[in-house]
Amino acid sequence: MRPHTSVFQDETRLDINYLPSRLLHRETQLNFLNQFFRFATESPGKMSQRVLIVGKIGTGKTVLSQHFGLNITTEAQKRGINLHYVHVNCRECKGSLFMILQQTILKFIPHFPKRGYSEAEMLQALMQILDERNAYLILAMDELETLIRNGGPDPLYKLTRIHETRLKAPQRLSLICILREPECLEMLDPSTKSTLQRNIIHLEEYSKIQLRDIINARVTLTFRQGTVSAQTIDLISELAASEGGNARYAIELLWRAGKYADASELLEVSPECARKAAVSIYPVIQKDTIASLGLHEKLFLLGVARRFKQTDAAYITMGDAEDAYAVVCEEHGERKRGHTQLWEYVKTLSASGIIKTEISSLGQRGKTTLISLPMVPASDLEQELSKMLHMKKE
Ligand code: ADP
Ligand code: MG
Repeated sequence: MRPHTSVFQDETRLDINYLPSRLLHRETQLNFLNQFFRFATESPGKMSQRVLIVGKIGTGKTVLSQHFGLNITTEAQKRGINLHYVHVNCRECKGSLFMILQQTILKFIPHFPKRGYSEAEMLQALMQILDERNAYLILAMDELETLIRNGGPDPLYKLTRIHETRLKAPQRLSLICILREPECLEMLDPSTKSTLQRNIIHLEEYSKIQLRDIINARVTLTFRQGTVSAQTIDLISELAASEGGNARYAIELLWRAGKYADASELLEVSPECARKAAVSIYPVIQKDTIASLGLHEKLFLLGVARRFKQTDAAYITMGDAEDAYAVVCEEHGERKRGHTQLWEYVKTLSASGIIKTEISSLGQRGKTTLISLPMVPASDLEQELSKMLHMKKE
């Protein structure tokens, strides 16, 4: 037998720190950044800028800022301007301005002594380095809430006021503040707050369609051709859309789904792999919810689970579900319930989150209800239900 070939082509491109070369669906926001920082390549030193990027987890804050940083420094280089972009994560710096400054200085002077300076001296040292090199700096401070929580209003006060003490000198330090919880700004003094709020870029949650494009692009970069089906990509986008339009979650799911496919030596990453991945991130097989279902709701759900085990599709139709339910009823010696009653079951099951329904207008037969099993692997669900139904009989 031939050894199993991995579905991955280059797994490293699913790493959270990987910077994709294309940024999708963030053109407007990238344009805003370009506008805010136009002076940096046109008249550097004449002004400095502070921009706030706000958005929930996985809305692309970090990747947007890094992309912008790469673009603007390339542009500056072409024009012979010594502009640097430094991205620091405030959480990794334990919310300490001292550590943020230290990390920043180390980008310019890798052997800068780590001890013997106060925070104020570090800030001065940084400005001096920029002056000596006739350099300009855009400092992006990611996960800014940790700096505010840890240091209160002072650190940002100092950073945003630095040029006021350097009258007539060129303005060399601009800031990009990246924040998930805008409420945090309430902890700042009013003037720093209003300075920061002047230029805000809000990142909305990604829609399912946008997520699909992002995942598609990443699949091309990381998986061998033809190993991830459109159905799987669709399901992952669906899951990530309902997880707050979170691209980070989508990419994590994609990676784990690939891992499941490899572990089971599959040739393809199936929707079932994605469901398993979802459970491994949030274990949501809610035994209580399932146990509290009525007998025929359980039988119906068992039919649905079986059907999903037989197919690689991300959705089945209501008709498929009814057929599968009929078979299960026969097996259990139960008389099957009517169509109207089944609709009630579908409503209950989708209200509890076990299944999801969607109306499709595809195909010749007109509208039909599609059922998906977003959170639970069909095999786990089948096992659990069979166990419960079996116990009941004894
Ligand atoms: P945030 O910082 O808002 O939590 P990230 O910038 O870390 O989100 O994005 C999460 C993941 O999704 C990263 O792997 C990133 O590369 C990817 N990603 C987010 N937005 C996009 C996009 N618009 N195009 C391509 N990849 C994206
Ligand atoms: Mg981030």
